[in-house]
Amino acid sequence: MIGIFGGTFDPVHFGHLRPALDVKQALGMDEMRMIPAFQPPHRMQPIANPGQRLTMLRAAVGDEPDLQVDNREMLREGTSFMVDTLASLRSESGDDAPLCLVLGADAFLTLDEWHHWRDIPELAHVVVTHRPGWQLDMNMASPALQALWRERQVTDRSQLAANPAGRIILQAVTPLDISATQIRALVAAGDSPRYLLPDAVWNLIRMHGLYGFTAVDNTKNNAAKNKISNNRILRVNTGTDI
Ligand code: ATP
Repeated sequence: MIGIFGGTFDPVHFGHLRPALDVKQALGMDEMRMIPAFQPPHRMQPIANPGQRLTMLRAAVGDEPDLQVDNREMLREGTSFMVDTLASLRSESGDDAPLCLVLGADAFLTLDEWHHWRDIPELAHVVVTHRPGWQLDMNMASPALQALWRERQVTDRSQLAANPAGRIILQAVTPLDISATQIRALVAAGDSPRYLLPDAVWNLIRMHGLYGFTAVDNTKNNAAKNKISNNRILRVNTGTDI
């Protein structure tokens, strides 16, 4: 059974990596493919270029044996429609191999806006993960998506391994309220996003000056911050303030 975790990964963070590993382990998958979009169809275009996002993802995954970086959308170029990615994985894996597309609940609720979305459950199962701040409220879904949910939702995990595609299952993952948007905003503000993402990714962001990171500005910020904290220490030492 192959898991497919697509994303923009602008940049990749622990809110992607840990849930991907959670799903792989919980559902007993053989592989979990992390697939960065070359050009995501449903959102603002990424800030980091495709090569930079792929490099950050590779650095994040490193030699972790349970996650694989799959660069087929980068090689295909153009708009990265998931249905094309699933079709290409299906033709490689054969008709009988179970494929599982992993989607956060927020992404799942927009599934009916995706290119050729009705083909997606024909090509793969859909594993819907719970994301912090989001409840899977199917009342928020379109009538077509509600119907799909009613027809295909299962709770028994063995249904996934027993069929190549077509089931939808909910899977709880470690709640990590982290988003790439938050990380980009921290970096742009001159603050550190450390401990929200792997250090290897943070190093690449600094090395390539991504998301508005500039060493000069940060040095200035740090100098200003040091001055503030020195003042605080002085006040503490003189017993006048804390
Ligand atoms: P952005 O803030 O730029 O929109 P993002 O952090 O949501 O980015 P994406 O690359 O757009 O990341 O997300 C890829 C997939 O990862 C989606 O299925 C999304 O639901 C899921 N995901 C993102 N962040 C989390 C998180 N903190 N916990 C669980 N799933 C997440």
